[in-house]
Amino acid sequence: MSKVGEIILEKVTRSYGAVTAVHAVDQVIEGGSYCCMIGPSGCGKSTLLRMIAGHETPTSGRILIGGKDVTHVRTGERGTALMFQNYALFPHLNLTDNVAFPLKIHGVGAERRDRAREMLARVQLGHMADRMPSQLSGGQQQRVALARALITNPQVLLLDEPLSALDEFLRLRMRVELKRLQNDLGITFIHVTHTQPEAIALADKVIVMDHGIIEQAGPPRDIYDHPHSPYVARFMGGQNVVCAKVLVAGDQIEAESTEGGRFAFAPRATVRAGQEIRFAVRRDKIRLEPGQAAGSNAMCGRVVNVEYQGTFVKVELVTAQTDEFVAYLPEQDFFARPLRFGDEVVARWLPQDVCMLVGTNNSSGDALAH
Ligand code: ADP
Repeated sequence: MSKVGEIILEKVTRSYGAVTAVHAVDQVIEGGSYCCMIGPSGCGKSTLLRMIAGHETPTSGRILIGGKDVTHVRTGERGTALMFQNYALFPHLNLTDNVAFPLKIHGVGAERRDRAREMLARVQLGHMADRMPSQLSGGQQQRVALARALITNPQVLLLDEPLSALDEFLRLRMRVELKRLQNDLGITFIHVTHTQPEAIALADKVIVMDHGIIEQAGPPRDIYDHPHSPYVARFMGGQNVVCAKVLVAGDQIEAESTEGGRFAFAPRATVRAGQEIRFAVRRDKIRLEPGQAAGSNAMCGRVVNVEYQGTFVKVELVTAQTDEFVAYLPEQDFFARPLRFGDEVVARWLPQDVCMLVGTNNSSGDALAH
């Protein structure tokens, strides 16, 4: 099987004095896939990306690219290209010379300009090849930076927050272009972001980081639908997290919250009677009914906010058992029986919509200081 563009991280660690920015990370990223690394500021994403690019050396561990150990191989010789957040274009060079620059460094002669023009055409800027960077919009500058990163035919393109400098409209357009480009080129893209919708929309694999470790990695749908911990559930969004204590652990788990809420669902992880657990229920799986009698797999709440979102309506509740509880109601259901601020409701869900969370990681995501 071809290993082109495959990345293997083996116990990769990077410390800066007392701070462990990345801690013993093990991961395989398939060649030709689109991988998004996500996590809050300071969780170690950029450090991991820079180590794959060769701009940082691991304190310990190994990095393999395309089956070859590149841990101590120089940046330009490991088949990767890094696109910086601020694009870092040369203001005094036109677009052709900006894009051709990495080839010049590699000693390529006059043909480098032809190759640069081809690459500019690939990012839809062929007609602007003689312009200067200052004559471009933000989105166009980003495409030039992409063309410059791709000119050396890397196996792996590394993107550090590539869309963060763009306004919302451009960000969505460039997102589509990045995906198209990755599909056309068939090379591995690793894209660092702190924006969950970006990761879900783009990635074949999402890596969720926290405190320098990988908290969960997998296809976006698995992570969104089956978050591993309260941290992932909250960070990826779209979920309500509920705390409860297990009363009966058998074929079915019966649990109770300290405020008297009763829950029953099939176990998805090993639990014991008496154990404190957290579980998640997707916001779009919640039904709201008027009244105050909850019963099982339900909780009472009071409406504190209603936001129309187009296809659905976001309804926020205060409940006795959670800090925050949100239901996404289909537009038609909501307007068939609209709710107002202050309404008392019962939020109800089905036992099969409960996702048991393992562990209690609930952190902010900063790196560990030892
Ligand atoms: P992220 O990209 O997720 O925001 P970083 O990888 O940039 O996180 O940083 C992870 C942690 O490592 C942070 O606590 C940061 O302050 C620390 N760090 C990163 N680079 C350096 C450095 N060159 N020197 C000292 N500390 C650093």
